Amino acid sequence: MLSVQNIEKYFGAHHVLKGLSLTACSGDVISILGSSGSGKSTFLRCINLLENPSEGQLFLDGKELNLSRHRDRQLYATSSKDLAEYRTQVGMVFQSFNLWPHLTVLENVIEGPVHVERVSKSEALERAEAYLDKVGVLDRKDYYPSQLSGGQQQRAAIARALAMEPKVLLFDEPTSALDPELVGEVLKVMQQLAAEGRTMLVVTHEMGFARNVSNQVMFLNQGTVETNGCPEELFSSPTNHTQRWAEFVSRAY
Ligand code: ADP
Ligand code: MG
Repeated sequence: MLSVQNIEKYFGAHHVLKGLSLTACSGDVISILGSSGSGKSTFLRCINLLENPSEGQLFLDGKELNLSRHRDRQLYATSSKDLAEYRTQVGMVFQSFNLWPHLTVLENVIEGPVHVERVSKSEALERAEAYLDKVGVLDRKDYYPSQLSGGQQQRAAIARALAMEPKVLLFDEPTSALDPELVGEVLKVMQQLAAEGRTMLVVTHEMGFARNVSNQVMFLNQGTVETNGCPEELFSSPTNHTQRWAEFVSRAY
C-alpha cells in the first residue's frame, strides 16, 4: 500500500535521516520507536511531505509520487495536484492535535472533505458525524477545541484524519501530550482502528501498543534502522538483538 525507499534528510550539513525504507501492506500497523532526536518525526513528516526529503522515493498503491529537486536541493512533489491527492490518502495525527481553535469540532472535521476533497456539505456532515461517533466525541461536536479535554481533542483529531478516508494513517506520538489518565482512551481508539484493518504508522513511546497492537516494529537510532522486526520476536528476547534495543526496552519497563 505504502512504500518508502531510501529516505535521506539533511538540515543544512546535519544528516538526520540516513536512508530509511519501509513497506506497509494493507492492514499493517508499524510502530516506529527510538529515543528523542533519532529522526522519528522527520521520517513521518518526509513520508507526508510536510518536510521535503533530500533523497528518496514514495509509492502509494504501487504508483510513484513524482518528485523534483529544487534549488534548496530538497525533493518536492512535481505536481501540486498529485501532492494534494497523495496527502488526502496519507492522513496525519499530531502530538499537539493541531485542531483549528476558532472552529467547532464538527467544523474541524468537515473542513478537509469540503475544501480539499470538495465533497458536498451534506456528505461531509454525514461522514463527520459517523467518525466523531466512532471515536466517542459526537456529543462534543458543537464545542470548540479549548472546551474539550486533551483526550477528546486528540480523538476529534483522529476523526478529522479519518474523514478524508485515507489509505494510510500516520501518528506522531499521539498520546505524548496527554495527562496519563487520558492516554488510555486514545490508545483504545487506535487499537480499534488497527482491529478494523487500517494501515497505520505510529511513532510512539507506548511500549504496550508497540508490543500488542502493531505487527511490525522499527527502532531508529540516529537516522538509521537499528532493529526491525515483529514485536513478539523483538520484545520476548530483546537481548537477542542489538544492545541499543535491549537497553531501550529495559529503560521503558
Ligand atoms: P524525534 O522525533 O525522533 O525526536 P526529530 O525527527 O524531531 O526526532 O529530529 C531529528 C533530528 O533532526 C534532531 O537532531 C533535530 O534537532 C533535527 N531537526 C528536526 N527538525 C529540524 C529542523 N526543522 N531544522 C533543523 N534540524 C531539525
Ligand atoms: Mg518527534
